[in-house]
Amino acid sequence: MLKKLTRFYYPETIEDACKYLGSKDEKTAVIAGGTSEALRQDNSIEALVDISRVKELNHIRVDSSSIRIGAATPVQNIYKSTDLKGPAGELLKTVAGKIGSTLLRNSITAGGNLAAVFPWSDLLPAWLVLDAEVVLRKGKPKRTVPVENLLNEKPAKFMAPDEIIAEIIVPTAGKGTGTSFCKFAKTANDYSMITVAALISIKGDSIVKARLALNAVTIAPVRCHEAEKMLEGKKPTAQLFAEVATAVAEKTEVRKDFRASKEYKREVLEVLVRRSLEEACVRAGK
Ligand SMILES: Cc1cc2nc3c(=O)[nH]c(=O)nc-3n(C[C@H](O)[C@H](O)[C@H](O)COP(=O)(O)OP(=O)(O)OC[C@H]3O[C@@H](n4cnc5c(N)ncnc54)[C@H](O)[C@@H]3O)c2cc1C
Repeated sequence: MLKKLTRFYYPETIEDACKYLGSKDEKTAVIAGGTSEALRQDNSIEALVDISRVKELNHIRVDSSSIRIGAATPVQNIYKSTDLKGPAGELLKTVAGKIGSTLLRNSITAGGNLAAVFPWSDLLPAWLVLDAEVVLRKGKPKRTVPVENLLNEKPAKFMAPDEIIAEIIVPTAGKGTGTSFCKFAKTANDYSMITVAALISIKGDSIVKARLALNAVTIAPVRCHEAEKMLEGKKPTAQLFAEVATAVAEKTEVRKDFRASKEYKREVLEVLVRRSLEEACVRAGK
């Protein structure tokens, strides 16, 4: 409940947004898509700084080495983008298309989805397997950090009060790389119960790079470093993927959730991890 909220600001530049957020006179916070506002715990907020009109935060730019997505870009724009191609672009489009409904996707932003860090935030495992970096701005000054660091530390702790997520950068992956995303939920519009993202790069007959990340089944998004080590340097076989899936399902600390038992989720997780790895591997060969 925002009992003290009396003002909204609509800055047009990042500098102005950060100025409002750094105010010593009133307690402010960022709002982007606003879809998680009802869950905000802080009752002391007096003013919200709406960044949805900051043009430099709303873009999808693709060049030969990277994809850059502005923090205030609605996830529907990612889903519908014709510029996003290749293993990284296709993964982002697939994941964005599985978020909520069209109405929600028009509001939910890439940066808000990342900053809120809910277990059901579908893009988070995709950013992790893509080795994404995030550009944080504090007015003009900026720093670029791996998304994994931001998520491990929790964005609210990692960022200064007058700092915002400005952009997410993903390196493009070329031939020999495949990606995959599995979302398990009760209905197409339901919050995820399990999400699995995978990336596999193959050279010759062995896996040279493996990335695997989970969310929803866990309390927070996790990258499965041990599983990645089990995969790298090995020949991609059905048996290897099955062994890795079993290990991941055994070691994952499954989140309690009224919709399904931990045992059930562990079983489904094993299937989804195996499926994701197999799918990413097949795509890497195309
Ligand atoms: C019914 C419903 C179903 C949903 N289903 C899904 C789903 O299936 N999958 C999914 O991934 N998500 C889903 N969501 C969305 C998810 O729960 C969050 O609400 C959403 O990701 C937040 O994005 P937002 O742009 O609306 O951010 P906001 O709600 O505006 O902000 C979220 C938090 O991030 C902060 N913030 C926002 N932008 C920035 C920034 N640029 N820099 C720093 N901090 C920032 C805000 O201060 C706030 O603390 C659903 C939401 C609803 C309401």
